[in-house]
Amino acid sequence: MLVALREFQEESDPLASRRDFRSEGESYAIERARRSSEAQLVAVRAALERVQGRAYGICADCGNAIDERRLKLIPEATLCMSCQWKAEGARSMRSSGRRN
Ligand SMILES: [Zn+2]
Repeated sequence: MLVALREFQEESDPLASRRDFRSEGESYAIERARRSSEAQLVAVRAALERVQGRAYGICADCGNAIDERRLKLIPEATLCMSCQWKAEGARSMRSSGRRN
């Protein structure tokens, strides 16, 4: 049993270790890819939690939710559409007196 085991090891070791090495390298690459995508996910989640903590997507003026499509266009928007219009209208009226 011991001899057989030793023979088995001697015979299969070079191949086995090479195979192991290769599969280790492969699984290492997969593991690394998996870890980096997990790290990305963690970063995205952290960013989401940060912006949620700062009331992201909530109008700073009226407190209503900012339209999702607006946030996609202007992720840093702090005002909802109507408040933005009011603010811009007031600003453009003040600065140039122009009306739309
Ligand atoms: Zn608003």
